[in-house]
Amino acid sequence: MPSVVVPDRLTSHVAAGHPWLYADAVPAIAGARTGELVTLLGQGRKPIGQAIFDAESPIALRVLTTRRDEPAGPALWRRRVADAWALRRATLDLGRTDAFRLLHGEGDRLPGVVVDHYAGFLVLKLDTPAWLPHLHDLCAALVEVCEPRGIFFKGLSGARTGDDEQGPGRARTLVGDDPPVHIDVREHGMRLLVDVRRGQKTGLFLDQRENRALVRQVSRGRRVLNLFSYTGGFSLAAALGGATRVSSVDIAKGAIEGARDNFAANGLDTAAHAFVAADAFEHLAACAAAREQFELVIVDPPSFAPRKQALRAAESAYTRLNAAAIRQVTPGGLVACASCSSHVTMDLFLKILRESARVARRALRVLEVRQEPADHPTPLHFPEGRYLKFVLAVAE
Ligand code: SAH
Repeated sequence: MPSVVVPDRLTSHVAAGHPWLYADAVPAIAGARTGELVTLLGQGRKPIGQAIFDAESPIALRVLTTRRDEPAGPALWRRRVADAWALRRATLDLGRTDAFRLLHGEGDRLPGVVVDHYAGFLVLKLDTPAWLPHLHDLCAALVEVCEPRGIFFKGLSGARTGDDEQGPGRARTLVGDDPPVHIDVREHGMRLLVDVRRGQKTGLFLDQRENRALVRQVSRGRRVLNLFSYTGGFSLAAALGGATRVSSVDIAKGAIEGARDNFAANGLDTAAHAFVAADAFEHLAACAAAREQFELVIVDPPSFAPRKQALRAAESAYTRLNAAAIRQVTPGGLVACASCSSHVTMDLFLKILRESARVARRALRVLEVRQEPADHPTPLHFPEGRYLKFVLAVAE
């Protein structure tokens, strides 16, 4: 197995559980190929762990283990999957929820591997091609522990469709049955239809599950505006929670059609609600012009700062958006604001909301501040892995 000497200043981070070593921070590993397992050496060339190598990514090494008694390889993948499965069983109400994240990469100590569970089907997505040579063994571990109806491979994160139509990174069923066009799942009893092939991410934004449940709790009697609705997760939660009318807005037509289908699947009258394929900024401007306000506005945009260099521009876009949203809340109504950019820390997000409230000339009283749910764990020493912020507030 190739090896690399980890600089002294980084060995304590590795020992504490930080899962990444950047290419520019470690010596070149002669002859190593993407996907190879590499021994990490500390002071005096003593082994301190094992990692998986990616020759192309700025993240050259993802740490798999720091223990001598658990060498990297199929037996370790199996143990990691079993641990993750046990953690989900301990933390989720699987009687009412069958859509959840089973493996959250770094947080489940299989860095770069994401597996979501949809009613017995597993959808696998990789952050790095380094795992491609290990797909067979990963699947064997998943089959042994979870006995899924099928495992669908969604490909590599960041790859555009068509990038890899023939190669090993192409989307395909790896094990068992092909997933149906729509997998019918339950989230706290709410029905959702999931298109794992054409949907964003692996099909659903599972990280907002508990926040959707919160929205369901507070929606009774309110008119609700859900911006960036995707297939209507928050909208459904609001409608099932007794909202009088829910407007779902997303720029993607397919997402809006999905939202309508989800309302119908839950026995809701689609004619009583609005489904709008439009730009959220433009929609807010139209609401402002029509003096249309809502007792609850939900704002869950895509990441405006996919890269750190984009942070400045993102900060002002988030402020503009949230200020416009806060203005459309009735006095004393609620606003729910989220951000999924890992470059925006919780502190920065709260600062953005203070600035948004100032611009909108409204005072916010915070009811809930939330981060990722329990099926999206993160190592404490890996703050980069925290990406989700969700704030529910009263807008005076
Ligand atoms: N809240 C959703 C997830 C939102 S993901 C849920 O709980 O499932 C972000 C969504 O924003 C995507 O569906 C994307 O299509 C949409 N989007 C991106 N840019 C947009 C824009 N300018 N206006 C409206 N929607 C947009």
